[in-house]
Amino acid sequence: VKLISYSKDGEMLVGLTDGRSVARLSGRLDGPITDMISLIESWDSLGEQVRAVRTFDYPLADVRLEAPIARPGKILGIGLNYADHAAEAGMPLPEQQIWFSKLVNTVAGPFDPIERPRVSSMLDYEAELVVVIGRRCRHVERDRASKVIFGYCAGNDVSVRDWQMRTSQFLLGKSFDTHAPYGPWIVTTEELDPSDLYIRCTVNGEPRQDSRTKHLIFKCADQIAYLSQVMTLEAGDLIFTGTPGGVGAAMKPPKWLVPGDKVRVEIEGIGAIENVVTNEGEAR
Ligand code: ZN
Repeated sequence: VKLISYSKDGEMLVGLTDGRSVARLSGRLDGPITDMISLIESWDSLGEQVRAVRTFDYPLADVRLEAPIARPGKILGIGLNYADHAAEAGMPLPEQQIWFSKLVNTVAGPFDPIERPRVSSMLDYEAELVVVIGRRCRHVERDRASKVIFGYCAGNDVSVRDWQMRTSQFLLGKSFDTHAPYGPWIVTTEELDPSDLYIRCTVNGEPRQDSRTKHLIFKCADQIAYLSQVMTLEAGDLIFTGTPGGVGAAMKPPKWLVPGDKVRVEIEGIGAIENVVTNEGEAR
């Protein structure tokens, strides 16, 4: 199923969508669903009820889609996880997984603006498959990793390249406000096999990235197995699983995002997010 967080008439709600209409889940299920994380945590008992919903409340066009999880406990991103992206970055294929974090202030809705920071113009996109963790777990074996995944989204790991490369730590260049738009919904695991999906990014309709998730060097399961050796993963944590070749930084000359640009990330079986670049402070 496809699950959304949305606002309507000033209320923040959780719902189910078929891509055309919305069924409100907040207040409808046998359990208090205050937000997406509470729904994910109750999924073992409430999932059946959600799958059985057949009546919808209003058209999708009448709601505002928000980030599926407004405050994920963690947002983790892996670097250089497609061979063509490693090559364009002038880097060897990684032997170890390269991890960084995006802080929670980066969260943005699927159609929200991306801010171009006051302190940099080297603003870039990275189309990525996003994994949503479904249950608290630690030391997950690779072949059990799919059991802890709740679902998938399309995301943009927006990056500020000078700040990213200024030091050996990516954190600041990856953590500007609004730089993790994702959505437009969570597609749950039973509906999607993530192993070979097309993944594309366009800027103002111009193709920039076009690949398939089968080219991931470290697969979703490898990533979860590796990360969970270090940390407890929890319901609602997000993993940005890497971007294919074609980022703006690798073009000659580089093509940075500028205000007015419309950046679209689309993944097969999920859908698309679309974000317009604005100058920091100018978004409404
Ligand atoms: Zn990335």
